Amino acid sequence: MKILVINTGSSSLKYQILNMKDEKLLCKGLVERIGGKDAKIIHKIDGKKHEEVIEIKDHEKALNEVLKLIINNEFGCLKDIKEIVAVGHRVVHGGEKFASSVLITNEVKKALEENIELAPLHNPPNLLGIEAAEKLLPGVPMVGVFDTAFHQTMPPEAYLYPIPYEIYHKYKIRRYGFHGTSHRFVSQRAAEILNKNIKELKIITVHLGNGASIAAIDGGKVIDTSMGFTPLEGVVMGTRSGDIDPSIPIYLIRKGYTPDEVDNILNKKSGMYGLSNYLSNDMRDIREAKSKGDEHCKFAIDVYVYRIAKYIGAYATALGGVDAIIFTAGVGENSTSIRRHVCNRLKIFGVELDQEKNVKLNSSEAIISSENSKVKVLIVPTNEELMIARDTKDIISKRVEA
Ligand code: ADP
Repeated sequence: MKILVINTGSSSLKYQILNMKDEKLLCKGLVERIGGKDAKIIHKIDGKKHEEVIEIKDHEKALNEVLKLIINNEFGCLKDIKEIVAVGHRVVHGGEKFASSVLITNEVKKALEENIELAPLHNPPNLLGIEAAEKLLPGVPMVGVFDTAFHQTMPPEAYLYPIPYEIYHKYKIRRYGFHGTSHRFVSQRAAEILNKNIKELKIITVHLGNGASIAAIDGGKVIDTSMGFTPLEGVVMGTRSGDIDPSIPIYLIRKGYTPDEVDNILNKKSGMYGLSNYLSNDMRDIREAKSKGDEHCKFAIDVYVYRIAKYIGAYATALGGVDAIIFTAGVGENSTSIRRHVCNRLKIFGVELDQEKNVKLNSSEAIISSENSKVKVLIVPTNEELMIARDTKDIISKRVEA
């Protein structure tokens, strides 16, 4: 069973073909700068890379080029496009309507359109991806997998903001949370690695990529997460501020900044980028500059670590204990020092890292806490595409059975 997974951004389209018989990745790639004359396709198969720079006016043309590559004699992974039995789409915002993945129907598309206001940057390209796939792969079932869905189990005390109810009802302003597919994947995988039933575990998942979020998961269900109404809330990210005094944007607007400028500052110029005095949003550059004595970068890392540890402490309280802390995504999987600094601040909970394992098993799937640690600490590489493909397979299999 071959499944195509698609993840569209405003000017990009990422794809993977997975064989769900053994969950093997057959090929994958990325189209960048859609809408331009110099769009770039990077296609990878068996460790080999094929690149093309061509004009791609829209997402449909991008997908068309991708499908051609997928069946290309030299670089392809399929003989015939008809081998694709289903398409799984990553959809950023499912609002309050979708608590799990769904078969895409006209009704679902309508609901996604209604959610555009909640995710103006993400849901429109997600819809373009769905429409392009429907046109180019007619009759092939499509499944939508939402970034927000896994977090829909949060209780009201976690998802309600202390603002008037009328605002929640009128504008649907509440905590939704994002990166749900990643939090779900790594928490389930962690339970397997620990050889425990997830229903018996209290887990804190720490997704530290360019975007970053933390989730408190009790018995497999999210009870709180750090991203909120938008992905701006929570811990410090590559270019996003995370939590700040809500008066700051108002203050800046009163000082003469436009709302768009403030939006740009908080989403694109803050976080590690802003704190490093615009050196970089990439943890590797910041680490290197810190090691050469750059003070801004030292503070950037201090703030980053401090805030992650604060969230983990808060979530240990929310969960009433913690059995496992999972690090994932670019920084979580690959930065030995960030994991070490964060865990050093969590000694109060009985967290003890095995320093040797933390270094030796970097970037792999591993338990990196010491034998004596009261809390297990794990690295689990995330794989959102595989989770999307699994959901897609489950949903279309049920459909066939029905
Ligand atoms: P995205 O949110 O874009 O999917 P990723 O999960 O791929 O992000 O994470 C990207 C980030 O991971 C980079 O910006 C960089 O800060 C960080 N990163 C990647 N490799 C390393 C590494 N070896 N050490 C420290 N940080 C790393």
